[in-house]
Amino acid sequence: MNTNARVPVNVQPSDEELSKSFAFTSRLEDIVAWGRKNALWPLPFGTACCGIEMMSVMGPRYDLARYGAEVVRFSPRQADLLLVAGTITEKMAPILVRIYQQMLEPKYVIAMGACASSGGFYRAYHVLQGCDKVIPVDVYVPGCPPTPEAVLDGVMSLQRMIALQQPRPWKDQWKGLLT
Ligand code: SF4
Repeated sequence: MNTNARVPVNVQPSDEELSKSFAFTSRLEDIVAWGRKNALWPLPFGTACCGIEMMSVMGPRYDLARYGAEVVRFSPRQADLLLVAGTITEKMAPILVRIYQQMLEPKYVIAMGACASSGGFYRAYHVLQGCDKVIPVDVYVPGCPPTPEAVLDGVMSLQRMIALQQPRPWKDQWKGLLT
């Protein structure tokens, strides 16, 4: 082998050569869904003990970042995943709805724990009996509080739903108490 052979310095391939050098064997909507699924930006709406459990999901031990969902945002304009973690009182409900409405489409909701899913053991007049009374929920994570593994499972369930582009009639035909 001639090691002294000169390598041309300026060997930029032309656009035509580049376009022939690779190809996507997929549909555009699948690629978009793949990107969406792996780049969820969560807004944590932590109101009670489940909020503490949610923090551990984002910490180094359980590391939500492994699922591409570590960019936590506290502005609804920059988030597409609303993580409702904790008891929602009647007074909080309009604020939760406003935050949800300010998020950009496509947006998703996970109800984390018994309180967010159903009111939990607060069978009381001042507690919302599940945040799905006012906003559409995609995934319910059971537990009081749910384990971090259960929350990760909920995130993965949502990711599967996004990747498969599953229809979401509960959202498309949404009618809530406040909207
Ligand atoms: S589900 Fe249990 S742990 Fe979570 S906010 Fe309600 S009472 Fe607290």
